[in-house]
Amino acid sequence: MSEAAVTLERTNLLGLERAGMEAFVQTLGSQPFRARQLWSWLYKRGEGRIEEMTDLAKAFRAQLIERAEVRVPEIISAHESADGTRKWLLRADSKQAFEMVYIPEPDRGTLCISSQVGCAMDCSFCSTAQQGFNRNLTTAEIVGQVWLANRELGTSGRPDERAVTNVVLMGMGEPLANFRNVVPALRIFTDDLGFDLSRRRVTISTSGLVPQMYKLAEETNVALAVSLHAPDDELRNELVPINRVHPIAELLEACWHYIDEQNGRSVTFEYVMLDGVNDSVAQARHLVRLLKGKPAKLNLIPFNPFPGTQYRRSSAEAIQRFRDELINRGVLATVRRTRGDDIDAACGQLAGRVNDRTKVRLGDKLIGVSVQP
Ligand code: SAH
Repeated sequence: MSEAAVTLERTNLLGLERAGMEAFVQTLGSQPFRARQLWSWLYKRGEGRIEEMTDLAKAFRAQLIERAEVRVPEIISAHESADGTRKWLLRADSKQAFEMVYIPEPDRGTLCISSQVGCAMDCSFCSTAQQGFNRNLTTAEIVGQVWLANRELGTSGRPDERAVTNVVLMGMGEPLANFRNVVPALRIFTDDLGFDLSRRRVTISTSGLVPQMYKLAEETNVALAVSLHAPDDELRNELVPINRVHPIAELLEACWHYIDEQNGRSVTFEYVMLDGVNDSVAQARHLVRLLKGKPAKLNLIPFNPFPGTQYRRSSAEAIQRFRDELINRGVLATVRRTRGDDIDAACGQLAGRVNDRTKVRLGDKLIGVSVQP
């Protein structure tokens, strides 16, 4: 057999759920506790070299080296912003790439990860949408982003950098359109034998795939963010085309259901501030009617421009006025501070490198878009 053929057969240990890891070690004739040991090496110690996993029996290690590997996405390039934000371009294959962003703050280190190469949702104000959609990331590629970031941060030598404390699925892609690969990754993030992040420190953000939101409520209990961006269906149909399939009333029902089921605190509604489009006081009042008294908070995101966009960022005064209107009428609202825009790492600026995109995008064709169950 050629070397390439052997490599193809190797199982990637990264991204195997507990049960999957146990099943794998059993195929090697080993006890299930070996799976816990492997998890501990991978996620607690960040070790990717099987030969360094020194408390594993030698014969088992030899078997593993033959049959398994720890395969993380290759870093194509790394960028650092003046504000300390870091962005990495990661290889998906010879032509495709995706991005992840690390945002340091005094009390936390947030990693913003991607779930797909490109995106099919076609939101009109998002640069990822302009790229079209290529493919879903695997669980290993999703988990691999956190694994890699921890390795890179640990070796940077910068005193202000800490390991990842928070993960947000707010990079490229619609995570709920890649449900099958995303949910196991969420489990590995929060499992005490995995990255052991509290469920409140892992946030999944969706443009509003309502059926998948109900399924998510059955499968996990991480924090939920929803890209709202408009108070009425007419405008939201234009900005977030999935709204034509699942309008606002249906979306909000799914949100309250999620919070009920998960005993969660509140849904964070993302709202991009577009000059003259969705930033009027009347629109703020409309939002109040939708959200007052509900477990909701609004996160206002100043629009981040990208080449070719028709939109402009709302003025600082308009954002302030909008926020005050919400707060004065009893709806929690914060303004997201723009980070990393000098390296195109801010919200909606992640473009990666998407070739071979499928032509079907949500805006072109609402029915028949392949949204994985
Ligand atoms: N597809 C998911 C995950 C992406 S999260 C979702 O839509 O929720 C990224 C957030 O940044 C979303 O709320 C998205 O709407 C917002 N965003 C997209 N483009 C933006 C831009 N140009 N400026 C500011 N925010 C943007």
